[in-house]
Amino acid sequence: MRLTKHRKQILDIFMESLDNLYSADMLYEVLDKQINIATIYRTLELFQKEGLLAKSIIDGSAYYYYTAKDHHHYMICLQCHSKIKIDCMVHHAIDDTASKEGFQVKQHDLTVYGYCKNCHK
Ligand SMILES: [Zn+2]
Ligand SMILES: [Zn+2]
Repeated sequence: MRLTKHRKQILDIFMESLDNLYSADMLYEVLDKQINIATIYRTLELFQKEGLLAKSIIDGSAYYYYTAKDHHHYMICLQCHSKIKIDCMVHHAIDDTASKEGFQVKQHDLTVYGYCKNCHK
C-alpha cells in the first residue's frame, strides 16, 4: 500500500489518539474539510483491509480505531457510547481454523455491544 499525503494525514490522526474511534464525518471535520469525504471513506476501507484499523458500528454509523500495533477490541455501551478495551481472544481459534481450512486471513472484526454499569441500572 502506498502512503499518499492524504492517507498519511488520516493515519496520523488515529496514531495521535490511539484510544479514539472516528467516523468518516468526524475525520472530515478534524481535517478542516480539506480531504474529500469520499476519499476518507475509501481510505478507511483500505486501512481496514490492510489491518491497520478495525471497525465498530454505533447507532448505524461506522467508527474506526487503530489496531495494528496493539491489537484489541472494544465493548461499547449502546446508551452512552463509552467503551472498554478488551484483549483479542479469538486469534487462536482463527489460526486453528485457518490452517485446517487453508484460509488466508487478512483481518477480523469483533465488537461487543451492551450496556455499561452506569446504564443498565
Ligand atoms: Zn453506558
Ligand atoms: Zn482480534
